[in-house]
Amino acid sequence: MARPRERILILGGGWAGFVLSRNLSPAKYDITVVSPRQNFVFTPLLSEATVGTLEFSHVVEPVRDRKQRINFAPAVARSVDFAKKRVSCEASIVQGTATDIVVRSEPEKVESTREMRGKELDIQRWRQGTKFQLDYDKLVIATGCITNTFNTPGVQENALQYRDIEDARRVQRRIRECFELAVLPNKPEELRTHLLHFAVVGGGPTGIEFVGLLADYIRGDLLKYYPQVKDRVRITLYDVAPKILGMFDESLSTYAMETMKLQGVEIKTSHHIEELRWGEPNKPPIQMDPKSCLTLKTKEDGETGVGMCVWVTGNAINPFIKEALADIDEFPEASIAKRPSDLAKDTKPAGWKVKKNPKTGALLVDGYFRVQLEAKDETTAAMNDVFAIGDNAMLEHGSPPATAIAANQEAKYLAQRLNKNDFDHAAKFSFQDMGLLAYIGDDKGLMQMPHTEVTEKSKMFPEGLKGRTAWLVWRGAYLSLVLSWRNCFLILIYWVLSRLFGRRIQ
Ligand SMILES: Cc1cc2nc3c(=O)[nH]c(=O)nc-3n(C[C@H](O)[C@H](O)[C@H](O)COP(=O)(O)OP(=O)(O)OC[C@H]3O[C@@H](n4cnc5c(N)ncnc54)[C@H](O)[C@@H]3O)c2cc1C
Repeated sequence: MARPRERILILGGGWAGFVLSRNLSPAKYDITVVSPRQNFVFTPLLSEATVGTLEFSHVVEPVRDRKQRINFAPAVARSVDFAKKRVSCEASIVQGTATDIVVRSEPEKVESTREMRGKELDIQRWRQGTKFQLDYDKLVIATGCITNTFNTPGVQENALQYRDIEDARRVQRRIRECFELAVLPNKPEELRTHLLHFAVVGGGPTGIEFVGLLADYIRGDLLKYYPQVKDRVRITLYDVAPKILGMFDESLSTYAMETMKLQGVEIKTSHHIEELRWGEPNKPPIQMDPKSCLTLKTKEDGETGVGMCVWVTGNAINPFIKEALADIDEFPEASIAKRPSDLAKDTKPAGWKVKKNPKTGALLVDGYFRVQLEAKDETTAAMNDVFAIGDNAMLEHGSPPATAIAANQEAKYLAQRLNKNDFDHAAKFSFQDMGLLAYIGDDKGLMQMPHTEVTEKSKMFPEGLKGRTAWLVWRGAYLSLVLSWRNCFLILIYWVLSRLFGRRIQ
């Protein structure tokens, strides 16, 4: 009789979860991915889609696969019972789609405040997804991170976040909206200037790549359609640190700053954002009104008007990891990989919690990505059926950076271990550092060689690469990671098309 396949549940359809699902053996595992969105987003090329070099469809892959080797549940995980091996989920299928259509089409029918409150309650009810539970034999937690706003007043509500395809669509729409509003005949001159000021907060690789591409798009394409506002457009990059691209060597980071300044990007390092609100600077705040502008307040410069503010300042821990994966209800005796000799005899649930990095809140995993539990007396026990990879996990003994490259390697490593079931004798995960890459605009890039070991390559380019060659390496490297042949071809074709005919203005 054929052995039944083990049920493996993967929470999250991003880099780590998606790559893992595609590399697990369907003959061995019954694979289910739980994720709120139906598509995996190829984040390194998301900005190219935002600025119209590519289409959004080129940077996504469906989590479901054509051959139906992977089950997919469009939902968010809400809690995990490690002892019962069960995950509670809430379906996300109507969120942001059907209910929004209803919300938009109904307001004129709502007459009184009382009725309006009733409607709001209804909408809240529709927005709650159906609750269901999924049992697993093995669980992989790959729910990623959220954007860190550092609790800056007004940022959560008013800044444009930049992680997902919907965020990128919103940014794309707002850029165009700002230009259209600014050229309307009756706009006050001051408001025109504010609307055409684009602010990006965060000088890491994601912020820099977005700013570089935004400058290319505005100066190379958009201004051909709006030549009358050529002298008004401003792009400003803010960062609290004294330099941008802090993880790159000084010479490369300085080169990036100089190149971007030549493109007309103002770089404001050592700037502390204090508030972001709707309304014009030095005037009373207003309710959100896309026809108007926002005011960005910094400690150093005071208030300045902006048409949009994109917030890309790094990671904060996912609320699911923070809130749902904390104390445990029942000690999962059967899941413990290796019972430590000094494992507390008292395995009462109150004494145990999920082991996390005290600073970031990420799940602290062992060298095989096994999630660990920690007793009050700091005894640690790894679970042999619960794993965590990607940005929501940190290896206890030195973790790679929170990047797509690392999540990809972790997912492939874990798939190998799970397929071979060789956790007892396989080598622990070690990250292959390929160096750092970034696009900085004007067809120029940066490439820094890994510093950990001296290789033939790093001897040839001790300072790394910069300029056009680095940009070509950047494009080649990410093209080689695209996960379907279809998108690989389409991306190549669109790169050529946008070079020949310009970017698509949407
Ligand atoms: C715009 C942008 C550009 C980037 N560019 C680069 C780059 O050029 N190079 C590079 O190496 N890295 C880049 N990164 C970083 C890289 O994308 C991340 O490090 C990588 O996505 C981490 O993978 P992950 O699977 O851990 O998380 P994610 O890819 O964020 O995936 C997490 C998934 O979990 C889902 N999820 C969240 N909560 C739940 C829940 N409760 N239940 C179920 N599912 C849940 C999310 O919807 C998402 O699908 C970029 C990131 C961004 C945002």
